[in-house]
Parts: sequence; structure tokens; C-alpha cells
Amino acid sequence: MIESAGIFEYATAPEGVRPTLRDRYGHFIGGAFVEPAEGEYFRTINPATEEVIAEVAEGSKADVDRAVNAAREALPAWSALPGVERAKYIYRIARRVQELSRELAVAESMDGGKPIRESRDVDVPLAAQHFFYYAGWADKLGYAFAGGGKFVGIGEDGAPLTPALSPGGEREQRHRVISPVGVCGQVIPWNFPLLMASWKLGPALAAGNTCVLKPAETTPLTALMLAEIFEEVELPAGVVNIVTGAGATGAAVVEHPGVNKVAFTGSTEVGKKIAHAIAGTGKKLTLELGGKSPNIVFEDASIDQAVEGIVQGIYFNQGHVCCAGSRVFVQESVAGEVIAKLKRRMGELRVGDPLDKNTDVGAINSAAQLSTIERYIDAGKSDGGAFWQAGGGVPSSGYWCRPCLFEGVQPSAVVAREEIFGPVLAVMTFRTPAEAIQRANNTPYGLAAGVWTDKGSKIFEIAKWLDAGVVWLNTYNKFDAASPFGGFKESGFGREGGVHGLRSYVTFG
Ligand code: NAD
Repeated sequence: MIESAGIFEYATAPEGVRPTLRDRYGHFIGGAFVEPAEGEYFRTINPATEEVIAEVAEGSKADVDRAVNAAREALPAWSALPGVERAKYIYRIARRVQELSRELAVAESMDGGKPIRESRDVDVPLAAQHFFYYAGWADKLGYAFAGGGKFVGIGEDGAPLTPALSPGGEREQRHRVISPVGVCGQVIPWNFPLLMASWKLGPALAAGNTCVLKPAETTPLTALMLAEIFEEVELPAGVVNIVTGAGATGAAVVEHPGVNKVAFTGSTEVGKKIAHAIAGTGKKLTLELGGKSPNIVFEDASIDQAVEGIVQGIYFNQGHVCCAGSRVFVQESVAGEVIAKLKRRMGELRVGDPLDKNTDVGAINSAAQLSTIERYIDAGKSDGGAFWQAGGGVPSSGYWCRPCLFEGVQPSAVVAREEIFGPVLAVMTFRTPAEAIQRANNTPYGLAAGVWTDKGSKIFEIAKWLDAGVVWLNTYNKFDAASPFGGFKESGFGREGGVHGLRSYVTFG
């Protein structure tokens, strides 16, 4: 007889790799970790266990000032480097992100609560892809925009350098001048911490800018691990500075007079505050804000595929996704079938330990976010929607919400109108394509949408009328570094990804 122990003793799964984390992190300023000016630290915890992972510096105005000054000092040399040299640094960052992908994925799941399957297969590979992609643009900026141009760096006086004339220079002189914007203040949220950092830093660095990045207060760790990568690859001091802290630190970054461009990803509420705060300052601004995206299922769609798309659309990353398909519109004739299949599928989702590779739905990012979600669920019930939640338990510590949905939701209901940012789906029905479009667009947001149908011609007709920056056709939540992403209406303006993502990091002379 075979000893069972011999068969079933497996080697540690790769997910068992624990990242080397410090007990305490300072800010990353001028190429080194430094103590915060006021000596204040806060704790970042694992939302699945409520255990403290590390202490992180609380950024004051003095810290932000120091970071902006470091970025400004680094700007002339970095922006004047030949593009191919900047590219080498960005490629090195990309390769190091790939090499450390296990550690980064585990840290991301520990700090933010997302399933390791997602951080391992989505967040980290896409983050590396963004650095690779933008590294490729660094020496081609003269070709990136319609009409082309000549890319030049920024001088000590803060003004673009005069383009050098090469043989045949007279023609060159007529080219428009493309130059970096300068110092970029970049504030990011907690739902895709490493990925959002790469979306911000990749294009900014490729286009010769220097940066001050402020990660979200509940998920600062992977940005700080990225800072360690910058040290390793010897990125010149001050080119990227990372100041940790909460909203006040973010406000100090965006309001600092030494910042030339603000790139913000986060809630619409904070985005509006930022737009107010910097109005009239001449700073460039891009806002990637919230959403309430529709997923529209027509009767001719492959229903099983659409159900997978609905699940992927709303329960991916516990619904902490700006473009989550949080409103589903199903054509009346197939509503019963779709909802029955959806519930069956929801019942199969495994909720629990984010570090278990079988987990589908991990921990809610913070206690505060869990209470927000619970408030919305109560509001949905008061508004009269029929509530259904997948059965099963959740771990005894940590913050959890099992996937749930509301049926028979009225357009006026809170769960149909407001971004919940949790695993809560509002299901509604429609009869005609015109009604689907009208109801899908009945929101202040305009970030993304999904359309499920067998007919290619219908897909393009519908997509044309949807107020959404991205429309996915028979799929959902697909991202690629070469593809622009961004919103309309209260979902913000500006694009990240693709050549479009470079545009807000350059100025045209
Ligand atoms: P949030 O707006 O509360 O915080 C985002 C970041 O802004 C954090 O780093 C926070 O510390 C900082 N901040 C808070 N107040 C600030 C202020 N007054 N000035 C400057 N910075 C400030 O958002 P969140 O809860 O962290 O993230 C969730 C939101 O982000 C959702 O609304 C989601 O839709 C949105 N989001 C949008 C996209 C997109 O690409 N459109 C992507 C991811 C997340």
C-alpha cells in the first residue's frame, strides 16, 4: 500500500512565498527612504486577518515639499537624457517587477485583500506590461502625436530647451516642440495599488517628467516595494518620490505650487475637490474617477458566457473596481434564465483567504469600506429591491461580504444610482435596444459598459450610443497597456494607457 502522506505532501505553493517587508517604511524621497519630518507613522493592516503588516510614514506638508523639491531638482537631467537612456531605466523597472512578481502579488493580496489569483494573473503582469509598453515610447515621442514634433527636455529655468539643429535643421526648426510637463503629482486609490502606480509612472517617466506619487493609505506597500526596485535599478535620485499618508497628504501634493501636472485616480467626490483646489493655477489635470457601469445582456447572447461576464464584471476584486459592471440590464425574455444561472454561479464562488489560490472573492479592503457596503445594502432593501446573497460562511476575523444582488431594482433606487464599490449587483430588465441604451446612460457616470449579443452589427450600433469610455463586447474587464482607458461625464477626463496616455504628460510648444 502506498503511504498517503508520501503522495499528498506537496512542496509549498508559490503563493507561500512571503515578500521581504520592513517593519517600518519612511517616505522615498531623493532616491532614499527617509524619516517623516514630523516623525508620525500609521499602520497598514491585512484586511483578511486584521493583523498589522507594517508601519508607514504619515506625510506632512514638509515631507511633500521635500519630495517636490527633489523631483524639481531631478527634472532637467532626467528630461534631457536621450529617450533611449530613459527607456533603459523603465525596461529595468519592468523586468524587476516581473522577477519579483510572486513577492509583489503576495504583498498586494496581503495589504489589499484581493485574491492571489487576481494579483498574480492580472495586477502584477499588467503593471509590468505598462512599464514595458511605455519604455518603448521613450525614444519615439517625436512620432507619438499627430503631426509629430521634436522632443526636448526642460532646462534649469523650468522652460523647454531649444531644439538642437542637426544637419537638415531648417526643416526641423519648423517642427513643433514637444516637452515634458515637469513635476507630476500623482494620487492613486487602493483597489489596484501597484497597477495604478504603473499607469501613472510609466507614461510620465517615458515623457521625461519627474514624479511625486501618493499611494492610498490602506495599500501603500507595493508602491514602497516599487521604491526598492527604483533603488536597485539605480533610477536617478528624485525622479520618482513616494510620499505616504491619507487624504491630507494627497491634498498637499496636488496643491503644491511646484507641481505642474496632477494625475488623480479615485472617487468622483475627491476628484471634484481637486478640480476646485487647482482651478486657475495652470496645472494640467487628468481625473480617473468613479463609475456605475452597465452590463447589457440581449436575448440572443450566449447566456452561459454572459453569466460569466456578469460575475467577472461585478465580483472581480470584490467589486472594488471603478469600471465594475454594477448595473446589469437583461432583456426581459431571458431575465428568468439569466438570474437563475447567475445565482447558481454566485453560489459556487469561494469567498475567503486571499492567499489561497482557489479563492474567487477575497476580503473587503477596509472596515470603513465594509460599513459603506453594508449601508448600501440596507438602503437597497429599504428601496424595495429583492435582495439575494450567496450562502456560506466567512472567516471569523477580517472584513467580508459575500457576493449579492438586488432584483427588481427601480432606476431611482440608491443601488442603481450610486457607486457602491463592493460585491453588490443591481439587476434590471429592458425590452428594446433603445430602452437598454436609455437606461444604461441614465447615470452621472460614463466609464465603461459591456454588451452581450450574438449579432456583431448590433454590438457596434449599441456601442456607438453608450456614454462610456470603454465598451467591452461579449467580454468584460479586459485591459491592455496599448489600449486607452478613461471616462466621460462624472467618471473624469483624460486617458491612461496607449499613446493617448502619453498626451497629458507632454506639452506642445
Ligand atoms: P478616494 O478618492 O477616497 O481616494 C483616492 C486617493 O486620494 C487616496 O490616495 C486618498 O488618500 C487621496 N485623497 C483623499 N482625499 C484627497 C484630497 N482632498 N486631495 C488629494 N488626495 C486625496 O478613493 P478611494 O476610495 O481610494 O478609491 C475608490 C475610488 O476610486 C472609486 O470611486 C473608484 O471608482 C475610483 N477609481 C477610478 C479608477 C479609474 O480609472 N477611473 C480606477 C480605480 C479607482
